[in-house]
Amino acid sequence: MSIETLTFTTHLECSETGKTYAADTLHGLSDAGKPLLVRYDLDALRKSVDRDALSSRPPEFWRYREFLPVRQRENVIRLGEVMTPLLPARNLQQKLSCGEILIKDEGRLPTGSFKARGLALAVSMARELGVRRMAMPTNGNAGAALAAYCAAAGIESFVFCPEDTPRVNVDEIAFLGAHTFLVNGLINACGRIVGEGREVMGWFDTSTLKEPYRIEGKKTMGLELAEQLGWEVPDVILYPTGGGTGLIGMWKAFAELEAVGWIGSKRPRMVAVQAEGCAPIVKAYQDGSRHAELWQDAHTVAAGIRVPVALGDFLILDAVRESSGFAVAVSDAAIIAAQRQCAREEGILLCPEGAATLAALQQELASGRIQPDERVVLFNCATGLKYPLTGRVASIDLKQPVDYRWIESFSDRQ
Ligand SMILES: *Cc1c(COP(=O)(O)O)cnc(C)c1O
Repeated sequence: MSIETLTFTTHLECSETGKTYAADTLHGLSDAGKPLLVRYDLDALRKSVDRDALSSRPPEFWRYREFLPVRQRENVIRLGEVMTPLLPARNLQQKLSCGEILIKDEGRLPTGSFKARGLALAVSMARELGVRRMAMPTNGNAGAALAAYCAAAGIESFVFCPEDTPRVNVDEIAFLGAHTFLVNGLINACGRIVGEGREVMGWFDTSTLKEPYRIEGKKTMGLELAEQLGWEVPDVILYPTGGGTGLIGMWKAFAELEAVGWIGSKRPRMVAVQAEGCAPIVKAYQDGSRHAELWQDAHTVAAGIRVPVALGDFLILDAVRESSGFAVAVSDAAIIAAQRQCAREEGILLCPEGAATLAALQQELASGRIQPDERVVLFNCATGLKYPLTGRVASIDLKQPVDYRWIESFSDRQ
């Protein structure tokens, strides 16, 4: 009896040198120390899958299974990987005089962030390839997704967070059963602990881009977006960029979709959004270089994009430049104001990273780099509920008569 295979994977390829590596064996980085990319037999894929047949599949990202690397169905780990809604932000659209603003709300995914896409794939593949222990550095969301998928897969997980990672994230990770550690340094310092512990701990390093499959999971954002827009791409995508997995993944998705003839040659302009307190990609973009320098003293309220150095910097910058996009930084004050504005005017609770894309949109509509007739997609990468929120709240004392005049006059909007 033949084993049911789901994938068209042929091999892996070094993103810098193009050197090929066998699929179906465990890999970290290439020999050149660069990320590995999964390659597929797209010709065979095109002949076997019809794009319109997809609509009858369940509304989850595993509907794109032929574009994903998992070979055997029993290794697919599911926690409810829903297709996330593409919400029209009509009030903001009108206020900002923008053609069309769509918010891809990734906060609906398991563990409340789009890190679930990458980790669903990384952990499913780890299971397929016999991994027993996984480890990663994280600013919070990736660690939670790793812990959850590892729990479901029966794989042990070790997670290292900067000590100022929001408590809610750290508690979530620990509660999901990961061995959880706070480190008095930034994410790159946590990454060093994971890398140097590989031999003695016997764990698989699941850091951003240090294994080939998180990109494949994040790639589903591009597949899903194109399908939701009727196999079209938007004019502009604003993406809050830390390690850049999602931006690189979507760029790969569009190339694969064109190769199978499901979309044309149009590409969205890819805009990498960072925070002023941690903007290595923006600096490299402005300097015209292909690699970014380590950002000193990284700080921002948007913890998910506080990444001082990115292994895939050249892949991010290549996609930004090839697409005629750009990289831009916004201030923490603008991020917080945008988060509040979106909550009040759209009823959508953005995470600070997602709010950074709205702040960038406002800034670039004003500068003219984004035109008022364009269709723009903002990525909200996590639910705002995972972050501290502030609001003015008054108390009522039941020992006093209730003063409805005062109730009417009280508001957080003052
Ligand atoms: C990880 C993360 C990002 C950055 O994503 P990358 O694809 O690694 O650049 C942005 N926002 C949130 C909420 C995140 O958790």
